[in-house]
Amino acid sequence: MYVIKMKTLIYYFAIFAVTLAGIGIIKLCSYGTSIDADSMLKESPSPQSSAMLFDKAKSDEKDVPIIMYHSILRSSHSGSEYIISEADFERDLKFLKKQGYTPIVMQDLIDFVDGKGTLPEKPIILTFDDGYFNNCSYAFPLLKKYDCKAVISIIGYYTDLYTETPDENPAYSHLTWKDIKEMIASGNVEFQNHSYNLHTIDKGRNGTKKKKGESLADYKAVLTSDLGKLQDAFKNNVGFTPTTFTYPFGSVSNDSFDIIQEMGFRASLSCESGMNHIGKNSDDLYMLKRYLRTPKKSVQAILE
Ligand SMILES: [Zn+2]
Repeated sequence: MYVIKMKTLIYYFAIFAVTLAGIGIIKLCSYGTSIDADSMLKESPSPQSSAMLFDKAKSDEKDVPIIMYHSILRSSHSGSEYIISEADFERDLKFLKKQGYTPIVMQDLIDFVDGKGTLPEKPIILTFDDGYFNNCSYAFPLLKKYDCKAVISIIGYYTDLYTETPDENPAYSHLTWKDIKEMIASGNVEFQNHSYNLHTIDKGRNGTKKKKGESLADYKAVLTSDLGKLQDAFKNNVGFTPTTFTYPFGSVSNDSFDIIQEMGFRASLSCESGMNHIGKNSDDLYMLKRYLRTPKKSVQAILE
């Protein structure tokens, strides 16, 4: 009895196993190529497989947050969105260091896109708009203390004005060409173009935005002349030509894109809030987004 039972069991087990295999074969056939593709990805991790190409594409792209500062003063009790205290700025730098962020400059980003350089594990760009003298008095010493880099976009008209009539007041003065030279020499600061004298809304134009009804030729002449004047001033005063145009007030016209590019700018900074995904495409460098750092929103709050 016992022997017969075992034989029966083995017989049923054999039928069961064959049936399982059969289901497997049927499944393999009916799913056809998708299963083949899956198994290829898992089993043959050659550099040519699509899985590897996908990973490579992802590793070539970097998330680069850009923070937008303006003035740094001893205290930030002015109620202005655009003034933060020296202590708050130091807290930002401490946080970035602790979290493993490496502040880079626009040239690092351009080199990465051009395939001439790599980016650190966690890159970030600290930008300062308008070129206030307080950037030199309060931000610069902290940038040196924490070995951090920053990008300052100046308004040429004010830098010329304060160079001619020096007045080192952190509350309202702007950087002189001498200050800029000193900051460039430190290796901690890169300077960029925030227009020569289009940082205004009182001349019938909103920053560098195209006027209503203005011809493309006229608009191009205005931008080329104004932005070009600051490019020349940079070249003559400090021997450096900015690579990046920072739109005043974030006021942007689509017609400016070709003009900015034709002028030789490799990148532009907007005031739109958000994260940048930088790959190997040079178009990725235009209209970069920036997070505004206000007295109420720390870099920690922005990044977390
Ligand atoms: Zn500005």
